[in-house]
Amino acid sequence: MEEKSIFEMILDKELESEIIYEDEDIFSIKDINPIAPVHLLIIPKKRINTINDVSDEDTLLIGKMVQVAKNLAKKYEIDESGYRLIFNTNDDGGQSVYHIHLHLIGGEKLKW
Ligand code: 5GP
Repeated sequence: MEEKSIFEMILDKELESEIIYEDEDIFSIKDINPIAPVHLLIIPKKRINTINDVSDEDTLLIGKMVQVAKNLAKKYEIDESGYRLIFNTNDDGGQSVYHIHLHLIGGEKLKW
């Protein structure tokens, strides 16, 4: 069986991380190494390794992740100032954890 991802270990309480949002499909944590004042990760409970592995049956789940990100942006008061949503994919995309996650980044003027 495939090794658990870091995010599965957090969800299973084998690794310490404050879960700031959770529903039946999705949870969210603060990034351990933030690149901006607000840097959250929105993660599906279902393990999908990369965006390349997303199937048609995941369409609703991906949409829900964006809805959760939008709601968290409002909760963290960056909805009006603005923010960025990013899925890093594979090596050139800078992906380091092979369990898809949406970065929600904001709280300052972002440089590309
Ligand atoms: P990726 O590089 O795969 O797009 O993003 C993975 C993110 O997960 C990185 O920004 C990294 O800082 C974060 N991360 C890795 N390990 C942990 C952890 O144990 N706890 C938390 N909260 N974030 C982590």
